[in-house]
Amino acid sequence: MASYQRICLVHYHEIGLKGHNRPAFETRLVRNLEFLLKAQPVQDIKRISGRILIRFSEDASYEAVCAAEALITRIPGVARVSSGYVCEREIDQMNEAAAQALADVGAFESFKVAARRNHTDFELDSMEINRIVGAHLCEQFPDAKVQMKNPSVEVRVEVIQGASYIMARSTRGVGGLPVGVSGRLVCLLSSGIDSPVATWKMARRGAVCYGIHFSGRPAAAATSEYLVDDIAHVLEKTGCIARVYVVPFGEYQRQIAALVPADLRVIMYRRLMFRVAEAVAGQVGARGLVTGESLGQVASQTLDNIVATNDAVSLPVLRPLIGSDKQDIIEEAQALGTFEISSQDATDCCTLFMPRNPETHAKLDKVREAEALLPLDSWIASILEEIEVHDYACPVVKNTPTDQV
Ligand code: ATP
Ligand code: MG
Repeated sequence: MASYQRICLVHYHEIGLKGHNRPAFETRLVRNLEFLLKAQPVQDIKRISGRILIRFSEDASYEAVCAAEALITRIPGVARVSSGYVCEREIDQMNEAAAQALADVGAFESFKVAARRNHTDFELDSMEINRIVGAHLCEQFPDAKVQMKNPSVEVRVEVIQGASYIMARSTRGVGGLPVGVSGRLVCLLSSGIDSPVATWKMARRGAVCYGIHFSGRPAAAATSEYLVDDIAHVLEKTGCIARVYVVPFGEYQRQIAALVPADLRVIMYRRLMFRVAEAVAGQVGARGLVTGESLGQVASQTLDNIVATNDAVSLPVLRPLIGSDKQDIIEEAQALGTFEISSQDATDCCTLFMPRNPETHAKLDKVREAEALLPLDSWIASILEEIEVHDYACPVVKNTPTDQV
């Protein structure tokens, strides 16, 4: 029996809806796939009638193809991946390829064949293909039941110009839009559970993310920085993170703690973080900031305090988790693969110099008055000099190499 080339078809939903932007979205998704699959056994990637076709190398093993597919389903813009084989528009080959595709699935109870013919120049119509391929599979898999409604496997046969694609496996992707179609954002990234999820949500809407992390160094250990680096490596696999800026923030916090009323400290730390993030946004051309805040979750996340921190910057502050429950965020962190990392203990700057009773309903005039005593401009200038840069591989941004710490 001949052995056919392995392929997968990448489906996208939302991109299809974007009217005249569609070619740009599709091209972006193809480029992102090419970049992120560089180390995989892929022969080529191209657009075909509303889908993207990935042809695997002739010698790619089943396991290697499955590993590549697992990566593909995590890439923003990918709604579904259907996997199988390509063969000629010749019914014997289609039968054989269908049997191979079905054998790949492993144990299953029932199946049906669903054929589609994009070009009526093929001599058999879809009903005839269903019948012929179905009969062949019944011979090859005598224990399997044919079932039209909710079969355990749907064997899809697509006949297009010049080739047939036969697929029996299908996996849902993360959906959303390809990274790079929605501009750039600076994401405040702690090593906690929430902010990696918030970053990921914006990445899935097509944004290129620049993380910024405020470390407690030198007043605390650098543990949170290692955790943020691990988190960035998880995000890097999806192509959404270009860079993480690390700010040694401990000394500034110490000074704030000495200079402002204890109950306003947390708001002051956060206003300074936002200002630094806004300055970084200016450098990289980002048009918004992102945080992992969720309404009412902790003292600094009341509406009054959100107003008091927003007041420090003029860029929009996006809070994709504002209406999410912690349990939902935890589940999303587990699916993303950052939960285990975020669950490790680390002193970041949040736990440093914390007052006993932080203000939960900050009054803007009091905040501004207290802040007026701080040498903000010179602090921000020195923070921008001390800031450390870690680059990650991103298909949209070509970073110039910097020292990886
Ligand atoms: P997370 O789980 O994301 O740390 P949290 O529930 O601990 O959030 P806070 O500590 O109030 O909540 O932080 C709220 C948001 O502020 C975070 O989601 C993050 O976006 C930002 N943030 C907090 N601490 C830091 C930090 N050390 N570096 C960068 N951003 C931070
Ligand atoms: Mg935190």
